[in-house]
Amino acid sequence: MKLSRRAQEIKPSSTLAITAKAKAMRAQGIDVISFGAGEPDLDTPQHIKDAAIKALQEGFTKYTPVGGIDELKEAIVEKLKRENGLNYQREQILVSCGGKHVLYNLAQAILDEGDEVIIPAPYWVSYPPIVMLAGAKAVTIPTSEEEGFKLSAEALKEAITPKTKAVIINSPSNPTGTAYTRQELEELAEVALRHNIYIISDEIYEKIVYDGFKHVSIASLSEEVKEVTILVNGVSKTYSMTGWRIGYAAGPRELIEAMTRIQSQSTSNPTSFAQKGATAALLGSQEGIPAMVQEYQRRRDLICEMVTSIEGVSCYKPVGAFYVFPNVGAYLGKNFKGNRIENSSQLASYLLDEVRVAVVPGVDFGVEGYLRLSYPISPDVIQEGVRRIKEALTALD
Ligand SMILES: *Cc1c(COP(=O)(O)O)cnc(C)c1O
Repeated sequence: MKLSRRAQEIKPSSTLAITAKAKAMRAQGIDVISFGAGEPDLDTPQHIKDAAIKALQEGFTKYTPVGGIDELKEAIVEKLKRENGLNYQREQILVSCGGKHVLYNLAQAILDEGDEVIIPAPYWVSYPPIVMLAGAKAVTIPTSEEEGFKLSAEALKEAITPKTKAVIINSPSNPTGTAYTRQELEELAEVALRHNIYIISDEIYEKIVYDGFKHVSIASLSEEVKEVTILVNGVSKTYSMTGWRIGYAAGPRELIEAMTRIQSQSTSNPTSFAQKGATAALLGSQEGIPAMVQEYQRRRDLICEMVTSIEGVSCYKPVGAFYVFPNVGAYLGKNFKGNRIENSSQLASYLLDEVRVAVVPGVDFGVEGYLRLSYPISPDVIQEGVRRIKEALTALD
């Protein structure tokens, strides 16, 4: 049997794979510390669970409208108005099975064979495969640690060709934790408008920002920018609801309709009672969020301080999200028991095998010489994990 070209090319999500490997090792009784998972360690708040339980008990267990229940769409419209200063109609909203699924539907709706999508690197692992699965080409643009891993308007302009359909902006970013200011977004938006390309704005970490940073939704810059922007968001990260699989898009009506048609022929509606939970998340109390963010900020400070205390390691200090992306380039090319460690994948394997610490290699995010560490884990575990990494790195020669 021969698999399709697409199936042969696609690789499993490396972050999910590393998390699974760490879990399997733990199940065997091995003491593994995992910085792999891209998810909060907190439980979903009780009032959200209660809303889903109530929905189940009331028999809300059947198909819903494909693009989500009106109640949830209204809650999203309300949220976007209240928090982002954006006015959308209900017809401009689509609810999908997670933010990832929103992006998948979007790629299927706007991309033809040979089209190009500009993706600044380091990027979230799933962007290039989602573009590729739509038959299009991911054009990755390197950014530098010195410039805070941000795509400049200049670099965007240079990457645009007649085939460019869209650019993906992920602010705050996974894996680097960088975030764009209003001014930087204005410059990027101007280029996108001038060249008539879509802006895909992945704002899943909008609430997880530090040191008083103010998240700006690029769609809120002007009516013109809003018309070419597809805002992608969801409840996974803000409300610790990764397993519920609820994400949403807001954008031009015609495009949302096309994405809804695509969804109608694949997954149909997102899970009925999960939608009720998501509605409660958006409409209910937001009081727990500042304390959560404060706690993440403490962990960010701890992990940044610890990783940069390792000789030769530098680390961009994240403005948002919950990852650090230290530069470990100084350790590539070194040896362990006569075996040369050439790249970040080999370094990540070495850390898992030798000191039982799971991290994700930078190469999976499109750059060599870095590792991604997810830090929604307890401070004790962070300390022990980084201590082990230090021990392992300094053992190389
Ligand atoms: C986690 C994440 C998402 C979406 O996650 P879902 O669970 O599918 O909603 C989207 N973009 C980035 C950058 C993420 O890290």
